[in-house]
Amino acid sequence: MLTKAPKGTKDILPSQIYKWDYVEKVFREICRKYGFQEIRTPVFEHTELFARGVGDSTDIVEKQMYTFDYAGRSLTLRPEGTASVVRAFVENKLYAGGQPSKYFYEIPCFRYEKPQSGRLREFHQFGIESFGSPDMLADAEVIALGADFLAALGVRQAELHINSIGCPDCRPAYRELLTDFLRPKYDELCDTCRSRFHKNPMRILDCKSPICQEAVKGAPVMLDHICGPCSGAFEALKGHLDAFGVAYHVDTGIVRGLDYYTKTAFEFVSGNIGAQGTVCGGGRYDGLIGELGGPPTPGVGFGLGIERLLLVMDAEGFDIPAPAGADAFIAYMGDDCKAAGIALSKRLRSAGLHVEMDVHGRNIKGQLKQADRAGARYAIIIGEDELGQNRASLKNMASGEQRLVDIGDLESCIQAGAADAT
Ligand code: ATP
Ligand code: MG
Repeated sequence: MLTKAPKGTKDILPSQIYKWDYVEKVFREICRKYGFQEIRTPVFEHTELFARGVGDSTDIVEKQMYTFDYAGRSLTLRPEGTASVVRAFVENKLYAGGQPSKYFYEIPCFRYEKPQSGRLREFHQFGIESFGSPDMLADAEVIALGADFLAALGVRQAELHINSIGCPDCRPAYRELLTDFLRPKYDELCDTCRSRFHKNPMRILDCKSPICQEAVKGAPVMLDHICGPCSGAFEALKGHLDAFGVAYHVDTGIVRGLDYYTKTAFEFVSGNIGAQGTVCGGGRYDGLIGELGGPPTPGVGFGLGIERLLLVMDAEGFDIPAPAGADAFIAYMGDDCKAAGIALSKRLRSAGLHVEMDVHGRNIKGQLKQADRAGARYAIIIGEDELGQNRASLKNMASGEQRLVDIGDLESCIQAGAADAT
């Protein structure tokens, strides 16, 4: 137990972290270009926020939340990002600053699920939220940002699927139609879906059980039953996506796993990483901000799973540049040389170089081995005699070439790669 991380969690080790740094840098840069600003919210919130915000009848709230009591309050580790951002928006009266308000975040999320490839209990999301605009251009902008981001990371084979899941005006009538269709099949449904039948029958369309998938074949689809305004909005969305040059497939099967969505629902799906192929999912949630106590404000956003993103990038062969090794490794012989090495390391680091030095008291052979392990471009060897002349040996680790250099010149030699030239 002591040396095993909890099931469904993963360490991100130093050997992998550069990939995370890389995608994070690209994400931040794209968000900057689209005018989204970073927001950071707490890892846990009052449980009611998710019960209300994500929806009581969703799998997330019914079965997957990490909830604990503290001092008489029920708290929950966030299973997704939107509800928290809405809470912060309302609590800090950010709506007073004029609309749209556009936010991005990178967060760990927690869901008690069956761990498998691309499905963890602690996972990470990039997310964006655009609050304030009822216009489908806001949806298209959110989707275009997602498409740009994936393209920048070499993901060519994630298809964009879009759908409209209607609004409170047209969904009730559709819900009737769907329940009428499913009623004769009620006994065939899985336990979860029998309860969904009463609470939220649209979720049955999304059930992964083969029996339920069979039962919903031929069911009426929301897209055929949306009202005039929803239908106009969907046409507008497609037009805006065309204008952005973003390709899409209309997929009537998309029903998002969270209750708050209205009109636009979309997913970027990759066929390259097995069953958990949805890299990014999002949509419009016009009722949510009002529902959570804010002034009625429309919103649209997405959540993008970082672990899945890295799997897709790997599957598509995108080579994230690995970080360079140390610029120099300082090896020394004896105490005087050690003090000179420390002073030198300080000087080279303040010049911006990545410098490492032995902190074990190893002999010179051991230190040079360490220089190799650090991937150092140069080893600087400080010996008594050379130090007497204020010089040190500069060894090019790739070629093995070595020469004496004035200590004062080391910085410029390393920066210019001068040892290579002589
Ligand atoms: P799925 O269909 O895979 O269950 P979801 O609809 O529950 O996903 P969202 O709540 O929309 O997912 O979250 C957005 C994104 O976060 C997903 O598209 C996926 O990339 C990622 N994600 C969701 N759940 C997990 C998980 N348990 N482990 C890893 N990534 C996840
Ligand atoms: Mg899920």
